[in-house]
Amino acid sequence: MPLVSSTAMLQAARAGGYCVSAFNVHTLEMLQAVVEAADELRSPLIIQSTVGTVKHLGPDYIAAAATTAANRSSVPIALHLDHCSDFPLIIQCIRAGYTSVMIDASHSPFEENVRQTKKVVEVAQAASVNTEAELGKVGGVEDDIVVEDQDALLADPEECEKFVALTGVSTLAPAIGTAHGIYKGEPNIDFARIERIASLVAAPLVLHGGSGIPDEQVKRCVALGMSKMNVATELRIAFSDAIKAVFQQHPEENDPRKYMVPAKQALFELAADKIRLCGSVNKAGDTA
Ligand SMILES: [Zn+2]
Repeated sequence: MPLVSSTAMLQAARAGGYCVSAFNVHTLEMLQAVVEAADELRSPLIIQSTVGTVKHLGPDYIAAAATTAANRSSVPIALHLDHCSDFPLIIQCIRAGYTSVMIDASHSPFEENVRQTKKVVEVAQAASVNTEAELGKVGGVEDDIVVEDQDALLADPEECEKFVALTGVSTLAPAIGTAHGIYKGEPNIDFARIERIASLVAAPLVLHGGSGIPDEQVKRCVALGMSKMNVATELRIAFSDAIKAVFQQHPEENDPRKYMVPAKQALFELAADKIRLCGSVNKAGDTA
């Protein structure tokens, strides 16, 4: 089926108490691996790319590849632009075929975040494109944006309610203690805060920094109302480690069609694990 907006699939997830996986991919094989996993498990899926990946590959290449993957698949698939603060690039991605965009103005004061988000929501809604915005600051490193731990501010629940009402944003990523990259210890997730935000905000909530959160904590976040989980770093590591293992055993290997095979398999398995963890197996029919 064609690429779809992620709004309906995330609303269905929120209503059904499960979560849709959003995987950051950087190569064709990574894209194929996560789509094949979603297809096999009959799960809805969000493919996403950061601004860094969009600049690396080009939004048109990414949208064309994602469109082909979606057309070959029978589960609902959305293509999402992760963390973007560049309005012209957001428009460029929508025009290229992205069906969901994140405007991240979380580093600006509340009023400015509202203003920038509202502007994107107006344009995106006219194109039936899903929107996501962030409140508070998620810690860690995302492309070239670095948020030191002490600066990682958690989202205020009342502000979340006000923000969604003022902007009309389709989905909200509140900072609740997770971080980008790999955790040094365990993440310090504020579950009570998730519960409070979910009680005030009907829109689907997005869990950023999904790499390396212990399974039980992911399940708790989902049970409390997190409807989308972003996973990036863990996927890159699994994919790269599998390629490194090939070269360790076969330093003479020079055929990407061979050394990419185990990498794709490793990514397929990891993506399938995350989809199962998020509880979205056999949920493709909820919106397809
Ligand atoms: Zn993020």
